[in-house]
Amino acid sequence: MKILVINTGSSSIKYQLFDMPSETALCSGLVEKIGESEGSITQKTAVEGQKYVENAVFDDHVSAMNRVAELLTDPEHGVIKETSEVDLVGHRVVHGGEEFAKTTFVTDEVKHTIDKLSGLAPLHNPPNLVGIDVAEKVFEKAKQVAVFDTAFHQTIPEVAYRYAIPEDMYQKYGIRVYGFHGTSHRYVTKQAAKFLNKSLDAVNLITIHLGNGASMAAIRNGQSIDTTLGLTPIGGLVMGTRSGDIDPGVIIYLAENCDMKVQDIKNMLNKESGIKGLTGDNDLRNVEERAAKGDRQAQLGLNIYAYRIKKYIGAYMAILGRVDALVFTAGVGENSDVIRSLALQGLQNFGIHLDEDKNGMGGGERDIATKDSPVRVLVIPTNEELEIARQAFNLIDD
Ligand code: ADP
Repeated sequence: MKILVINTGSSSIKYQLFDMPSETALCSGLVEKIGESEGSITQKTAVEGQKYVENAVFDDHVSAMNRVAELLTDPEHGVIKETSEVDLVGHRVVHGGEEFAKTTFVTDEVKHTIDKLSGLAPLHNPPNLVGIDVAEKVFEKAKQVAVFDTAFHQTIPEVAYRYAIPEDMYQKYGIRVYGFHGTSHRYVTKQAAKFLNKSLDAVNLITIHLGNGASMAAIRNGQSIDTTLGLTPIGGLVMGTRSGDIDPGVIIYLAENCDMKVQDIKNMLNKESGIKGLTGDNDLRNVEERAAKGDRQAQLGLNIYAYRIKKYIGAYMAILGRVDALVFTAGVGENSDVIRSLALQGLQNFGIHLDEDKNGMGGGERDIATKDSPVRVLVIPTNEELEIARQAFNLIDD
């Protein structure tokens, strides 16, 4: 069975084709700058190791998806003969609200609900929906499946998902913690359970997803019971350009005293804050390089970034009681020994002992704790596309 996984953004379509249940990635690709004067499509085939790049103008998502279909079936660069070979299309949908706790087949009602939830994810749900509409036309024989970023966190109990603001705000407007990066947290949770040789429903973890966006989750018996992102993807950890936690009073202060409008504050917290706001640079690799050369601003930025992670490790150890492993994942989590080391410094009293030699070595799934560390420290490369393919496949299997 062939499953096409699609992640549609406002001006891009990222895709990957899997053969299931073998989980072989046949090819992956990216269409960029849809609706702009110069766009491009890149497709890589896994088996042949080919990379095909084409510059072209894509007026809209329909023309982009049509080109994806042509390239997938291209005799020279493609990997299938006809689009009808695609049995399922799995779509990443960012916000599923309280309505979607599980992966689901797309129906008109499902599309209507995704649309209704756009207020909670105005930058993401509308293009995700466009992706579904377009894929329905281009891959008309395939069943469409929606996989929600928020779904994994729907097991968070009320005591953790409610904010201490008037009840009405929750009842009327749905203001609560939803959490994000759920597909990644779910994937690494399952992989970690396998790695530890434990059954999923017996594993307690703290999963630490550090990409451009970043979040942590407390996992009890394989289920998310708390996470650092809330209603929107701004809270919690320090991110590339997003602030993470700040006193909500700062927002009021900025509006009242600094001549900033809602749009200015939104822009600042989303695009000009985080590691970029602290250091002027949002790529952690550059910040690490500067810090190593003695740049104090870069050193402070790394320390603040790592301090926030450490603080949440403490909080999640308190609510979990027993923790089998910490799991680092995504761009920074998988690659930055500097951040892992800074974040875990001084946690020996909590049973967390990092082996600095192992931490310095690269590789795939690995355990970087000392031999006798009661809490294991794992690095598990995330694979959100494969998780979406698995979810879609399991839906058929059920
Ligand atoms: P996204 O959230 O966009 O999927 P990724 O998970 O790919 O992002 O993470 C991207 C981030 O990972 C980049 O901002 C970069 O700073 C960081 N990163 C990648 N490689 C390294 C590395 N070797 N050391 C430190 N940071 C890294």
